[in-house]
Amino acid sequence: MNRKNRILLCSDLDRTVLPNGKEEESPPARPLLRKIAKQLILAYVSGRDRHLLSDAISEYAIPVPDFAIGDVGTSIYTVREKASGPVFEKWEEWEKRIAGDWKGMDYRAVSEFLKDLKEIRLQAPESQNTYKLSYFSEQISIFSDPGPAETRCRTAAELIKEIDQRLADQGVKANIIWSVDDMKGVGLLDIIPEKATKFHAVNFLKEKLGIEEKKVVYAGDSGNDLPALTGGLQAVLVKNAAEEVRQMALAEVKRKGNKEKLYPARGNFFGMNGNYAAGVLEGLCHFLPETETWMKSGLQEIENEG
Ligand SMILES: [Mg+2]
Repeated sequence: MNRKNRILLCSDLDRTVLPNGKEEESPPARPLLRKIAKQLILAYVSGRDRHLLSDAISEYAIPVPDFAIGDVGTSIYTVREKASGPVFEKWEEWEKRIAGDWKGMDYRAVSEFLKDLKEIRLQAPESQNTYKLSYFSEQISIFSDPGPAETRCRTAAELIKEIDQRLADQGVKANIIWSVDDMKGVGLLDIIPEKATKFHAVNFLKEKLGIEEKKVVYAGDSGNDLPALTGGLQAVLVKNAAEEVRQMALAEVKRKGNKEKLYPARGNFFGMNGNYAAGVLEGLCHFLPETETWMKSGLQEIENEG
């Protein structure tokens, strides 16, 4: 991890470097990511826990990262590559820092305040973590179309407002994050400490590593990436991101005056389509043009190996 370039690439996994969405992946995208990863400091930033992070690395043959931020920003790990597979060492310091927002309560204690809400259903125990409380919502229509007045269920905004109020009444400072799993057609609701989003965790990592802000690039595609995509980091939205997310992200950076910090991948980057890893690399090159020579030589190597 003694890389002289001191570039930190932070990327979401599902549907960002992992091609597990509906769009096509350009064949050289992941092989090129594997080449480029050797030149920089790589961190995955995911809703996945440590075990599912590990599964993704082997299943999709993506590079073993130097760091992993899991559970939507509530855990940070140093990752070491061993013959038996990646080993994850948790940063206790990060957990201590975010615990105060929940007054030391864990996800079980916090879920007690919400147990009578009908629109949401607890995810399986393995999807919960000390400071991450996760629900499913089948009524994903509440995101966009609440339906006719007589059968109308609450909108997401109204539901979030109530959850927010209930938690505030208990002195729990939380961040409530909606995402939609398009493939499964289900809404995902994550409740995490206020200062434990992917954005906060990336900033903590960047500060601990002492990396300059202009050498950090974040890549993502969905709702739980919005704080990191729009918070002022150099960020890339992969081309396969849902149109709704794209609109929200663009509106938010405009509002905050961060427009030039968000790069929506366009495709046509060394012949690749801008989806998934291709979009990540395109965005990296947009913000840090010095990486272009790595891209060229990486592609050349892939062609020679091919
Ligand atoms: Mg994603």
